[in-house]
Order: sequence, then C-alpha cells, then structure tokens
Amino acid sequence: IVNCEPLKELIRTVPDFPKPGILFYDITTLLKNKAGMAQLIDAFAAYYIDKEIDLVLGIEARGFIFGPALAYRLNAGFVPVRKPKKLPAPTAKVTYDLEYGSDALEIHLDAIEPGQRVVIVDDLLATGGTMQATVKLVRQLGGEIAGIGFAIELDFLKGRAKFQEYDVFSLLHYD
Ligand code: IMP
Repeated sequence: IVNCEPLKELIRTVPDFPKPGILFYDITTLLKNKAGMAQLIDAFAAYYIDKEIDLVLGIEARGFIFGPALAYRLNAGFVPVRKPKKLPAPTAKVTYDLEYGSDALEIHLDAIEPGQRVVIVDDLLATGGTMQATVKLVRQLGGEIAGIGFAIELDFLKGRAKFQEYDVFSLLHYD
C-alpha cells in the first residue's frame, strides 16, 4: 500500500465556504494534477480490487467524479445516487436531516439487484448523514454493502461511528 499523505499537498482548503466558519476541502486541485488523479484512483482500486465488487455507487455530485473511474478499474458497473427529481425512471427516496432543514437522495429502483456487492463512494466524510442516507437506499434495494469509501475523512466529526458494521476506507484523514 502506497503512502498517500503527499496527496494532501494537492488539496486546497477554502475558509468560509459555503458559509462563514466552514473550512472547505476542495479536491479539484488534486483531480487536475496528473499524478494526483492517478494515485487517487490507484489507491481506491488497490483497496477494492479483490473484494468482488459488482457496482460502484457515486453520490451527487462529487462522488460522480471518481466513482466511474474506480468502477472501470474494478470491472464493475456505476450507479448514480442523485438529488430529488433528477432520475427519470421510478426511484426509491430517503430524506435526511441537515443542520438546518432536510435534504433527500434518490436511486433508480432497478439500479441494484438483490445480493449485488456494492461500494459507495463520496469525496468527503463529515457527519456521515449523506452516506447514512445512501446506505439506507442500498439496503432497501437489497444490495450488499461491501465497502464505503471516501477521499477525505474529517476524523474530529466522528462520522465513522455511524458505520460500525461496515468497512470504511478513507484515503486521507484530517484531525
Ligand atoms: P456529511 O453528510 O455531514 O458527512 O457531509 C458530507 C457531504 O457534504 C458530502 O457529500 C460532501 O461532498 C459534502 N461536504 C461537506 N464538507 C465538505 C468539504 O469540506 N469539502 C467537500 N465536500 C464537503
């Protein structure tokens, strides 16, 4: 396993985005870097290659960026998990609470066959609310969650505690 710590130098932190007091971790500066992009996908692929993954699920919007590249490397399919009213065919939907208000995610009802082995990916784990909602969708459809993967985990928010029964993999950690 390669040491990914140097990739942190390619991640841009933006203070007060999208709201005052929030430090935003921006992966676009990593993605545009040739070596950085390759290392990111290589590290994910190395972790999941022997886990017999059928599907990679990406959460809108930043999970769409590296989910398909990972799916290609794993010889798996890709499934988008989207904000409401974006998917054209019948969907399952979950609503989840945010700090202020709520949000929702949807997946096509026929996106996962019962028993298929699924990895869910997103760019960043904060409180874990977004991923928890996605886990519910996968379970509703009968998928088997073989892994949950993030480029970045904010350890101090302890989002990982929500996924104790799952294999959680994060490339980079911030405390
Ligand atoms: P959570 O639901 O609190 O874990 O928040 C994670 C979701 O918010 C993910 O979909 C992230 O893309 C997004 N998010 C929260 N903070 C950041 C950040 O600093 N950079 C990029 N995305 C973030």
